[in-house]
Amino acid sequence: MGEPSDKRPVINEEECTGCGLCVDVCEQGVLDLSDDVCTIVDMENCTGCGDCAEECPTEAISME
Ligand code: SF4
Ligand code: SF4
Repeated sequence: MGEPSDKRPVINEEECTGCGLCVDVCEQGVLDLSDDVCTIVDMENCTGCGDCAEECPTEAISME
């Protein structure tokens, strides 16, 4: 698991295929799929670890 940071995931919906890998990898339950697009449902629990961005095969998530 990545180190906590102040960065937070930003999702490029154009690049998201709805594969759900990021949802599965996030242990904090921050992400979920809505209409087959990744959405942030609980940003308050995000640790900024970056695991979701690393897991995304289309680089639809950037940590900013
Ligand atoms: S950065 Fe980490 S805690 Fe935040 S949404 Fe991604 S996997 Fe979850
Ligand atoms: S891993 Fe990437 S492509 Fe897959 S649902 Fe998440 S943001 Fe979308």
